[in-house]
Amino acid sequence: MSLSPSAHPIERLDPTQRTLRRAQYEAFEFELVAQGVLVRNASHANPEDHEYLVTIEDGLPHSCPCPADEHHQGACKHRVAVAIRTSVLEAARNAQRIRELEACGLQATASPPAS
Ligand SMILES: [Zn+2]
Repeated sequence: MSLSPSAHPIERLDPTQRTLRRAQYEAFEFELVAQGVLVRNASHANPEDHEYLVTIEDGLPHSCPCPADEHHQGACKHRVAVAIRTSVLEAARNAQRIRELEACGLQATASPPAS
């Protein structure tokens, strides 16, 4: 990684201008779930058919199961939509951090006492 971690997430996702615009104006809804952020595109008549789970890794929207993310250059609009909404990304990062801490705690208490 040549970019510093302080670079804005959007610089590291490298979306096309078209993707960036759509991520800004389409009516996305966000829901925090255990695996990341559920992104629903309410611009569609049936938003539940346009719902994708964006996973968060290293504090960045890491992957999305939508066809665009797989077949097109750069990040898809769902990942970009999360990245440009700092409060959503922050909430997802914090939730992930808490889960990591909880996982450590569980391991610590599960190990047998050294006697
Ligand atoms: Zn996507």
